[in-house]
Amino acid sequence: APYQVVDLRELLKSTMVMMSGKFEGLTVVKDLDPDLPPIPAYAAELNQVWTNIIDNAVSAMNGSGTLTIRTKRDGAYAVVMIGDTGPGIPNEIKNRIFEPFFTTKPIGEGTGLGLDISWRIVVKKHHGDLRVDSKPGETWFKIVLPIHPEAE
Ligand code: ADP
Ligand code: MG
Repeated sequence: APYQVVDLRELLKSTMVMMSGKFEGLTVVKDLDPDLPPIPAYAAELNQVWTNIIDNAVSAMNGSGTLTIRTKRDGAYAVVMIGDTGPGIPNEIKNRIFEPFFTTKPIGEGTGLGLDISWRIVVKKHHGDLRVDSKPGETWFKIVLPIHPEAE
């Protein structure tokens, strides 16, 4: 997949259009910072990250709740936040969700690879950061990407 200058908001919007069939019953909030600059990135891979995280958010909410997609600039970084109002991630598994093959889903429904792959794309490939902040009723995944990556 090519490394190119991309508008993260456009990537997010197209991923959301692709996934809109899964949003029935949910309130979807888009809060996309108009001043976010385009950044050099692997577009197809970032789309995979949004897809994995939104997919988890949607399945956590089980047909009702609010999905929030937010972008903002934080100094030298572009930040994408994906929020859901599902049950949250229990404390005892919070530090395991990024492990390969870790899943709480029934066999056949989850591979446990979505967050492992997302972490590698964001941290290893883009020198960014991927964090989760979760409490009962509210989970946020925060994707941090450098606006001016050193080199590729
Ligand atoms: P999978 O979706 O195949 O289970 P992932 O790597 O995408 O694998 O996620 C790992 C686990 O992290 C999930 O099985 C679930 O327990 C937890 N998880 C991820 N996102 C959320 C979320 N938004 N709310 C609650 N739990 C989550
Ligand atoms: Mg998943």
